[in-house]
Amino acid sequence: MNTTTAEIPMHQQVQTFLSAPRKMLIGGRWIDAASGKTFPTYNPATGDVLANVAEGTHTDVDRAVSAARNAFENGPWRKLTASERGRLIWKLADLLEAHLEEFAQLESLDNGKPVGVARVADVPLAVDLFRYMAGWATKIEGNTIPISVPYTPGAQYLAYTLREPVGVVAQIIPWNFPLLMAAWKLGPALAAGCTIVLKPAEQTPLSALRLGELICEAGFPDGVVNIVPGYGETAGAALAAHPDIDKVAFTGSTEVGKLILGAATGNLKKVSLELGGKSPNIVCKDADVAASIPGVSSAIFFNHGQCCCAGSRLFVEKGIFDKVVDGVAEDAKKIKVGPGMDLSTQMGPLVSDEQQRRVLSYLDSGFSEGAKAVVGGRKFGDKGYFVEPTVLVDTTQNMKVMQEEIFGPVVCAVPFTDLEEVLPAANDSVYGLAAAVWTRDLSKAHRIAAHLRAGTVWINCYNILDAALPFGGYKQSGWGREMGHDALELYTEVKAVTVRL
Ligand code: NAP
Ligand code: MG
Repeated sequence: MNTTTAEIPMHQQVQTFLSAPRKMLIGGRWIDAASGKTFPTYNPATGDVLANVAEGTHTDVDRAVSAARNAFENGPWRKLTASERGRLIWKLADLLEAHLEEFAQLESLDNGKPVGVARVADVPLAVDLFRYMAGWATKIEGNTIPISVPYTPGAQYLAYTLREPVGVVAQIIPWNFPLLMAAWKLGPALAAGCTIVLKPAEQTPLSALRLGELICEAGFPDGVVNIVPGYGETAGAALAAHPDIDKVAFTGSTEVGKLILGAATGNLKKVSLELGGKSPNIVCKDADVAASIPGVSSAIFFNHGQCCCAGSRLFVEKGIFDKVVDGVAEDAKKIKVGPGMDLSTQMGPLVSDEQQRRVLSYLDSGFSEGAKAVVGGRKFGDKGYFVEPTVLVDTTQNMKVMQEEIFGPVVCAVPFTDLEEVLPAANDSVYGLAAAVWTRDLSKAHRIAAHLRAGTVWINCYNILDAALPFGGYKQSGWGREMGHDALELYTEVKAVTVRL
């Protein structure tokens, strides 16, 4: 594997950013951890340390929460008009867009994803999300409500609702789309007028920290956004349990989602969760097979399978099973695996050695239970955290590889006879994040869409995500919806005001 020659040179600003230990953002200032400690973040293409980052613990979390509380209660933030709030968010989007290449490279280096993908997906989607939410700042409205109180005959009332910011918000995000997840979280919270403490994932803290610099440059008042990098068990847990946080928003594993929920009970803070998935992707015999094959491939191989909505269970109607599986296997063979900073790379490394070990252990478990790899099935190369794009067959419903989220480039392909068989199988999961169906019969497609227990259903497409579309899970895939106007519900409280006239 050639890991050096075709890599693009690092952007000057990325070099500068990586050259010094990165601090945390609290109350508008960049500071060291109270303990003075730092932790390394790695380049997953090589395993080398990329940068050192201040390691936040509960003392830093306390400081950040009190800065956010102060900004919420006493700072200029709450006095800004909705239009001024929207303009700040828009300005942040403009700044991010102006630094697109720098962010694409940081994301590629820290997470491993191809820089070419980050240029056209991660960064522009984050820019678009901020712009979409900037527009909402001036449209968060209550209602006037006619009321008919029976026990005050003759009295007249004016009743209305106010939609107010929920308050100080903790946001804990994962490593698969570090910048985009920060945008999904920050955008609606800022539009609603909340103040925030954000904890990026330990594997990928860099783009959020650089975004923090742009947040300062855009002119958000001090303390509105605080960023505390650190480990989940310490900084993350302290945030989830903090008595002065009004709401916690989390994206990550279902396992940790349950811990967050438990930690939040102390002060009954509001909780929203965007968790794992094991999304069914159903290809019917009447589908446009030529279009569905690349769709199915990208459903699982995009972002190296490290997508909560990855199409990891592929159900193909008998009669076209071999054709579809062979087609996806051919696609998998052609995928150029390599370092993210090489422009010809289509699939980079997994994010960490831990994640590589985890995916390989799922493969071992599948093989020991009788699954076979049509293509892939092993690690790739001898440095970095690469895994081959893999298509498994001969899997059964009760195998771990069919039940659990692998979060790697591994799809289980299963043949089916008819809808009576496939729809219960598709819904047979503790997860319910996304699903897809491929068919030319649109009336059938809509019927299937209604039947699938998932927060997102794609018909003849996959991974179509947009700032305007709500995203979130049924069942153990989460609570609440991010993006779209539904996201504002997560960050607002409704107050009913009644005036006797
Ligand atoms: P994870 O542990 O759920 O991490 C997500 C975020 O939660 C990170 O910021 C993490 O911090 C933090 N965290 C961890 N333990 C915490 C705790 N006790 N209290 C508060 N915050 C905590 O995910 P992971 O271990 O990185 O990945 C494991 C699996 O999760 C993956 O294989 C995949 O199945 C799933 N996953 C799902 C998504 C998704 O988008 N739904 C994203 C990532 C992972 P640290 O990173 O610093 O520990
Ligand atoms: Mg990293």
